Amino acid sequence: MHNHRFMRHGSPTGGGTFYGENIRFLESLVGTTETKCIPWPFGSSAKRGYVTLDGVEGTAARAMCTIAKGKPPSPGMEAAHTCGNGHHGCVNPNHIYWATHAENHRDMVNHGVNQLGERHGMSKLTEADVRQIKKMIAARELRRVDIGAKFGVSRQAINDIASGKN
Ligand SMILES: [Zn+2]
Repeated sequence: MHNHRFMRHGSPTGGGTFYGENIRFLESLVGTTETKCIPWPFGSSAKRGYVTLDGVEGTAARAMCTIAKGKPPSPGMEAAHTCGNGHHGCVNPNHIYWATHAENHRDMVNHGVNQLGERHGMSKLTEADVRQIKKMIAARELRRVDIGAKFGVSRQAINDIASGKN
């Protein structure tokens, strides 16, 4: 545990005091020899489940990658899956690696799971998704096109949410 906190914070005791059950679950997976996908067991309004790690909200897979491998080598990197089951919420650290957006996108296309361009509407979004998207827009961590990609909707749909049109 201290080693993982050290990788994340540069100090074995850094990172504050409280981690929720979901983060402890991810920490328990570090070093697992499991080769099958490990589904995220916690409820999720979005496609993959979002958690807050060190004050930063992101996908469970991103938190898993951060815990198992340290922070992304560059800021824009994404937690990509070798198994193609990111959209099913796989959090097996053996299946997750840091990739650039382009690499991750290519992998999703290869796995046949990238549906961007086929689902332009927002009918698939729940109220909770929309609230999540608004938070992500406000956080300015991701480009709108990337937020859209995570939820399977177009950038325009994200713009509409940002402007309150829809
Ligand atoms: Zn997997």
